[in-house]
Amino acid sequence: MSASSYTLLADDVLTLDAAWTRYSPGAVGIEDARISYVGPPPAARTGTVVDLEGCVLLPGLVNVHTHTPMWLFRGLTEDVPRGEWLAGHMRPLEARVGPRELRAGALAGCLELLLGGVTTIADRYSGMGEIAGAVEESGLRAVVAHSLYDDGAERGLRESEALLERFGADPERSRVWVGLGPHATDTCGPQLLRQVAALAERSGARVFIHLAQSEAEVATVRAGGYTGCAAYLDSFGLLGPTVVVAHGTYLGDDEADLVGRRGTAVAHCPSSNAKLEGRVAPVARLRRAGAVIGLGTDAACCNNGMDLFAEMRTAGLLNKVAAGDPTALVAADLLRMVTSDAAATLGIAHLVGSLEIGKRADVIAVDQRGPHLQPWHDPVANLVYAARGSDVRAVFVDGQPLLLDRRPVRLDAERILAAGARAARPLAPVGVAR
Ligand SMILES: [Zn+2]
Repeated sequence: MSASSYTLLADDVLTLDAAWTRYSPGAVGIEDARISYVGPPPAARTGTVVDLEGCVLLPGLVNVHTHTPMWLFRGLTEDVPRGEWLAGHMRPLEARVGPRELRAGALAGCLELLLGGVTTIADRYSGMGEIAGAVEESGLRAVVAHSLYDDGAERGLRESEALLERFGADPERSRVWVGLGPHATDTCGPQLLRQVAALAERSGARVFIHLAQSEAEVATVRAGGYTGCAAYLDSFGLLGPTVVVAHGTYLGDDEADLVGRRGTAVAHCPSSNAKLEGRVAPVARLRRAGAVIGLGTDAACCNNGMDLFAEMRTAGLLNKVAAGDPTALVAADLLRMVTSDAAATLGIAHLVGSLEIGKRADVIAVDQRGPHLQPWHDPVANLVYAARGSDVRAVFVDGQPLLLDRRPVRLDAERILAAGARAARPLAPVGVAR
């Protein structure tokens, strides 16, 4: 028996494998960092037995678009007119905090994600050199990208190279690995995008970029002589399975078809898009055309939290409304968008996203005993439309327990929240009363 060997016992196990295999009751065995058993409760139980009675075991959730440090800004950018959010509200707030505050915010954000059953994030922000340390400390699996802009491009590229040297770009070798993060199609000109494409080619890193997230972005790109944001990216070879585009809120039909045809990965962030733009991305069209879609919560100040259960529900509701069709985007597809499909968008479907022998042991237990989750007739419907992040009782990443009985095992939640609150204090609005 190895030191980190566990048998998790639960009332229900949803493997999220291709066949939707389910065991009720069931068990997941863990040897070191990997899943060694999935099936009915075995007669011989190896290692430490963790009794998760009343729970369903799932693969850990994968959040494909986050900015953890923006935890600091929750509640400060409410009901802003379209087009004013970033330049008019976020940038002035960001100017008031430094790397120390952002690191404290990132760790608090990671704690929020962990408590909600998220085991993998795609995180991006400026100052990632500092923030990546907090993400690593949290124990989450993460691909981290330093945001690149024309403004300071050379410095940003050097920072990306330094991150690549520190963590590498291979998710098999490192729990934290590096992606390239050009900010958006209106803030990254042709020269920078050519440099990004070359660095991606050389390093094997995935590229993460915001795409068609505002009317101003589309107008800027069109003013440069391109038919649209997707065509602009495509002209640098930056659409395809190793590129993750976030939002796509303002993609026209032809552009959505192009993104899909290239097999591009899409981070769909429905609650952020609804709150900041009053829009829904053309998800049905993107999927039909061949895009791989995962759900992202975006930042805590966009929507105003990082709960993937809430995001599944929002994605389902908004896409049904957008289609004018209650059969659009079924619950099973939504659950895939935070597990197996989300893992595929990040190129790690061979490692995580389903409970299968040999995969990394990223496992969560969701307590199914709350009145809002009973009766347990349809686990998929309950998880998508009735569960909450706060129902998560246990989280394992790489076979290590990070959350047991809803308490963080390695992180000092009280200290992290106190440091986060301290870092956010100077941002507190003065004289606001409602
Ligand atoms: Zn974003």
